[in-house]
Amino acid sequence: MSKGKVVAITSGKGGTGKTVLAINLGSALSLSGNKVVIVDADIAMADLGLYLGLEKSPVTLHEVLAGEASVEQALYDGPGGCQIMPSGLSLSGFSRANPKRLSNVVEELSRDFEFVLLDCPSGLSKESSIPLSVADEVVIVVNPDLASLADALRMKMMSEALETNVKGVVINRTGVSKTEISSNEVGSMLDLDVLGVIPEDDEVKKSANLKVPVILKKKDSPASEAQIELAKKISGKERIEVKAVGSKGSDEGKSKLRSILGL
Ligand code: ADP
Ligand code: MG
Repeated sequence: MSKGKVVAITSGKGGTGKTVLAINLGSALSLSGNKVVIVDADIAMADLGLYLGLEKSPVTLHEVLAGEASVEQALYDGPGGCQIMPSGLSLSGFSRANPKRLSNVVEELSRDFEFVLLDCPSGLSKESSIPLSVADEVVIVVNPDLASLADALRMKMMSEALETNVKGVVINRTGVSKTEISSNEVGSMLDLDVLGVIPEDDEVKKSANLKVPVILKKKDSPASEAQIELAKKISGKERIEVKAVGSKGSDEGKSKLRSILGL
């Protein structure tokens, strides 16, 4: 197999919806017949595993980056048939991980998978530049407000400085405010293609609580439809079959969360 495509999903501001997008895009690309892995490249503030009920995974990207485990040992079955490489939640795991090893991990994954999606840290930092530098292309997720766009512009500039192609921008959580910036304006302010526009949708949060991607829980909700369209655009495939699935796992209590984080 030729080398797979490595797509970094990033943003300037935190909380724009990168992890939700990575999970839904990964599931949709997988359902359309691609071999997909989603990697939690946000090794300091990992949350991909939490969204999927994989927070107790014994081996994660942390151990791989620490040289304590192989890539294969840190892969888990994910939604829609994709594979997930979570990062650990403990501070000690984070401190042992060497972020510079990410390029070897991604290189290895790209030999086995057609799509390697990197759920990236937000903002400009040494840690956030590493996944961008190892990606073939970058997708920037913004919300339609000025602060989000200003920060996105910085991410675009950093990606360009690292000589990684920026594929375009996804505008998430639209339709909340009458004064929000239009998708045309977002595209022209950032001088980027608008790859997708995903509306604010309560189903996203409901499905996150059930640890199921919204496209699998309610494929005809507005956010699902927009994310499936985006996956078609990224994969170049016309049809994506989505079947609804039940919930996985239950709500975590506060004390449980504290114990997972080692607090
Ligand atoms: P990031 O990874 O960029 O920090 P997340 O993917 O964790 O952001 O999303 C942040 C919050 O926004 C989560 O609570 C998520 O459920 C919510 N969210 C993301 N996209 C949408 C949407 N389209 N509609 C409603 N809520 C959303
Ligand atoms: Mg995230």
